[in-house]
Amino acid sequence: MKCIYCFQPIHPKTDWSNVLRPAIDSRLCEDCHNGFEKIDQGCPRCCNPRYQKICPDCDRESPLLSNTSFLHYNEFAKEWITRWKYRGDYELLTSMSAFLPTFVRGKGVPVPLSEERLDERGFNQAEAISRLLMKKTHLCFGRTHSEKQSKKTKRERLDAPNPFYATTKVQGHILLIDDIYTTGTTMKQAAAVLKENGATSVRGLTLFHS
Ligand SMILES: [Zn+2]
Ligand SMILES: [Zn+2]
Repeated sequence: MKCIYCFQPIHPKTDWSNVLRPAIDSRLCEDCHNGFEKIDQGCPRCCNPRYQKICPDCDRESPLLSNTSFLHYNEFAKEWITRWKYRGDYELLTSMSAFLPTFVRGKGVPVPLSEERLDERGFNQAEAISRLLMKKTHLCFGRTHSEKQSKKTKRERLDAPNPFYATTKVQGHILLIDDIYTTGTTMKQAAAVLKENGATSVRGLTLFHS
C-alpha cells in the first residue's frame, strides 16, 4: 500500500494493538501523519491554539456558539490544502480520517461556495467534509460571489456585507462545517443567517485553525 499523499510505500507495523484491527491512519505514511499537528488545547470556544482561555475574538456575543478544530494550520497543512482544494485532489480528504472523530452528532450544514467558485473548484470542500463525518448533510443556504476572503485584510472582512442567504427554513441544532477557521467572520456570518432562518443553535466544526 502507498501513502495517499506522498506515494511512498507504507509498511504497516503489526503489534498487539493493531493485529486484529488495521491502524485507522493507514492511508498516510508515518512522515505525512507526523506532518500534521493536533490541537491539544486552545480557546475553549473556538479552539484557537494561541490561547488557553477565551480569546479576544470570542469575548463577545456571537451567533456561533462554539467551534471545534482538530489540526493546526501549519506549513504541512497549507500544502495539503493546496493540493486538496485548489488542485481538486478530492480523494485526499480520506487522509484526514485519522484525525477526525468517527461519528458526529447533529445536522451537518456545509458552508456553501458561490456558484462561480464551485465551477472553478469542481467541488465544495466543506460539503465533502460533511459527507465524510455525518450521516446527513443539509444544503439550506447559498453564497453570493465576492473576492476571496484570503485576499482581504481583516478590516475588509469585518466590514463586508453578509454574503450568505437562506434557501430553505432550517430547524434544530446545526453543525456548521468548513475546512479552515481563520478569523471566524465567515462562520459567524453563516451562523447568523441560519439562526435568522430557524436554527435553534449553531456550532462550528472545521479541520484546521489558523
Ligand atoms: Zn506520505
Ligand atoms: Zn476563541
